[in-house]
Amino acid sequence: MARYRSSGASDRELGMDRAITRRDFVQGVAVGSAGLLAAAWLPGCGQREPALPLAAQDRPGYYPPRLTGLRGSHPGSFENAHALRDGHQMPKPVELDEQYDLIVVGAGISGLAAAHFYRAAQPNAKILLLDNHDDFGGHAKRNEFELGGRMALMNGGTFLIDSPRPYSAVADGVLKAIGIDVAALAPVIQKQDPDFYEFHESTGMGLFFDRETFGADHLAVGFRHRPWRDFLAATPLSPAARRDVERIESGKQDYMPGLTSTQKKQRLMKISYRDYLRDIVRVDPQVLALYQSQTHGLWGVGIDAVSALDCWGVGQSGFQGLKLEPGSIPGMGFTPAGYADTGGSLRLHFPDGNATIARGLVRRLIPTAVPGTTVEDLITARVDYARLDRPGEPVRLRLSSTAVRVRNDAAPAAARGASVTYIRDGHAFTVRGRDCVLAGYNMMIPYLVPELPETQRRALHELVKTPLVYTSVAVRNARAFEKLGIRRVHAPGGYHTSFTLNATVDIGSYRSPRSPDEPVLIWMQKTPCKPGLPEHEQNRIGRAELLETTFEDFERNIRDQLNRILGPGGFDAANDITAITVNRWPHGYAPEHNSLWEPELPEDQTPQVLGRARFGRIAIANSDSGGGAYTDVAIDQAHRAIGELLGSQPQS
Ligand SMILES: Cc1cc2nc3c(=O)[nH]c(=O)nc-3n(C[C@H](O)[C@H](O)[C@H](O)COP(=O)(O)OP(=O)(O)OC[C@H]3O[C@@H](n4cnc5c(N)ncnc54)[C@H](O)[C@@H]3O)c2cc1C
Repeated sequence: MARYRSSGASDRELGMDRAITRRDFVQGVAVGSAGLLAAAWLPGCGQREPALPLAAQDRPGYYPPRLTGLRGSHPGSFENAHALRDGHQMPKPVELDEQYDLIVVGAGISGLAAAHFYRAAQPNAKILLLDNHDDFGGHAKRNEFELGGRMALMNGGTFLIDSPRPYSAVADGVLKAIGIDVAALAPVIQKQDPDFYEFHESTGMGLFFDRETFGADHLAVGFRHRPWRDFLAATPLSPAARRDVERIESGKQDYMPGLTSTQKKQRLMKISYRDYLRDIVRVDPQVLALYQSQTHGLWGVGIDAVSALDCWGVGQSGFQGLKLEPGSIPGMGFTPAGYADTGGSLRLHFPDGNATIARGLVRRLIPTAVPGTTVEDLITARVDYARLDRPGEPVRLRLSSTAVRVRNDAAPAAARGASVTYIRDGHAFTVRGRDCVLAGYNMMIPYLVPELPETQRRALHELVKTPLVYTSVAVRNARAFEKLGIRRVHAPGGYHTSFTLNATVDIGSYRSPRSPDEPVLIWMQKTPCKPGLPEHEQNRIGRAELLETTFEDFERNIRDQLNRILGPGGFDAANDITAITVNRWPHGYAPEHNSLWEPELPEDQTPQVLGRARFGRIAIANSDSGGGAYTDVAIDQAHRAIGELLGSQPQS
């Protein structure tokens, strides 16, 4: 496993022995302990209705947003799916006396939106949603803390409303239906924290040069704000590397003379940004190390695995003198093509990210579970999890339940319904519905529905998601940030390659800290990858690394890294850290087209489109089906899937 080289501090100096909030406890019982939440399969239990303990979500005090430690795909959430993949024998299922109009597998934004569309078309429909996690929302998860007697929120995954293209009328309509008017809210919220929205203009952006990569530890402040010569003056970069950075950032040289704009674009589409900088711009090797992780946030891999043209499409530097005409060309990736063509959607960040959208959808589907009526009161509302899965309610949401088998009740053309078998607390259960939407990870579908046609199975297997980690760290104050004059840090050689102070968002009764003396949250990002390999190989290796990394390893690296960078500002991890939540997403971003390794195919031949074909009463949603890792894609795909089942497009 790749380990961040330590500052040399002992565990004691780092504060590994300090009592902070770092363990997953619900009512004093550790989550992940066998038998309480989703556990490994138990031997076959053929009886009807076994006597089961009360499900965790129905117990008083159950409130997963407050859990810390290893979250995201937390222990207990994925073992059953892996057992299915590995061909383990399934326990004999118990047939439950429950009949639904629609069963949705996956309660992320796509699954929740699917339920919303189905109810919009059929207001009396009975719906069951199943999710393998102990909380709903999929990637759109909420991390909730109490700091200094006040609620402090962070996104555990899906960060903000932001897409390469404006939201469709359908996706925007869903947001409006749950009370989110982006056009009205965005300017108000952005005014509170322009620095957060204007990333590149930020005065408080620091760049950390680590000694293992650059020869000496150095924090340079004012990245892309101060004149390059001043900014780079004290860095450990060689004079040649400094000149090259200035050339990339401010130069106007045409590195591909004699070619038309289209010819340049076609060439740039087939070489990585790294190769462009190395072979065409001809920069010093230190510069490559400096730029290597600039693509981590959008792609989850470094500049070696993203095409130069895609980097141009999202505004990376080094292309100014090429005078490329605006707009995408066929074959560009989903994200850069969208930004190049439209400039992107409106942007809006809620304190818990797009978990607000997931919670708004749950409120619409199961109003008794989420108090309040407005988006403002939604931010601080405490979800009553015990109300999510009540007998007799038209919509039920069952957590810690992994679907392991989905089948039509007859040959696809003749099917009148579908059954879903899921594992919960080590037992298997089967439920039946007229329709079924699979809104989970699409690469798992061939295991759930093995009778799918071979072409469709192959296409689904081709989809590889991007692993990512978002870490939330609670600290006693932000004085070190203030002293160093930074708000966020990019650390190309670091364990986490960037971190930032939480955004300032006041909404409803929710208040963000304003003084550096107040406790605050830090958001950190890590993208496990293996530079030099094709993107999907890197994704697989990164995923394996994540599954092997213990919370203790994460914690040690977090403390070490923050001490090293913020220590000169007075930060002391042993005293200053009060809680850590590592949101681990081995199956993160939906796969998007990568022109370096994938052929350019007609839309109807792409793996996401071949893979999402309806199969009898089973339709397929999730952002994976849209080939774009965005919330609007997740919603649009839910809309398409429900339209396929109902035979007509439902209203938002
Ligand atoms: C770290 C991170 C940050 C992101 N940031 C943004 C952002 O800022 N803006 C943006 O627009 N998008 C962002 N995304 C993309 C995000 O994936 C989408 O926006 C959207 O949330 C995806 O929703 P979904 O419902 O399609 O999938 P998911 O959120 O993945 O939901 C699918 C759910 O189905 C569950 N599931 C899978 N298989 C089964 C099974 N067999 N049984 C039961 N349940 C199952 C999964 O565990 C999951 O809970 C981010 C993604 C990640 C990982």
